[in-house]
Amino acid sequence: MTVVDPRPLTGEPVSLDLLNTRWNDEGVRQDLLTDVEGLAVWLAANGLAERFGADATTLRHTLAARDALAALADHPGDPAATARVDAVLGHGRIRATLTAEGPGEEAEFADQAWGPGWTAARDYLDLLRTAPDRIRACAHEACILHFFDTSRNGTRRWCSMAVCGNRAKASRHYARTKES
Ligand SMILES: [Zn+2]
Repeated sequence: MTVVDPRPLTGEPVSLDLLNTRWNDEGVRQDLLTDVEGLAVWLAANGLAERFGADATTLRHTLAARDALAALADHPGDPAATARVDAVLGHGRIRATLTAEGPGEEAEFADQAWGPGWTAARDYLDLLRTAPDRIRACAHEACILHFFDTSRNGTRRWCSMAVCGNRAKASRHYARTKES
């Protein structure tokens, strides 16, 4: 059975994609990760379904990783949030590998249930190394989505121009018409 991913924004790096499992729909908070079925959808969307199973323990650990990453995204550099993400990272290790295909690396977990959450936290490190200032929350006040700004000038403000960009334009227009 194929379940359709109901989220308005997909395709961001996996750390931000984890944050984007929560969104507002007409002012009502939605959450993909309320059950293991939702977790299965999220794992499949991020190419993690082959490696990690969707069960209650994995869901719990993935939610812990999401809370930690959300706290850090909201308060970059905050010591408590930093420590929480670091604690998630403590559940996995990178093993350097050499195979016929050449050098590589492999993630290892004492508890596989931490795999998806750890993978998201590790991805966040890549974003921090690449361009921390491009980790953004959508500028629309009613929107809680996050994205990594890959635009050339770094001027992306909205999760989606079609949705939040236009909503913001429309409300500015509305404010102007009301004033005049
Ligand atoms: Zn938005």
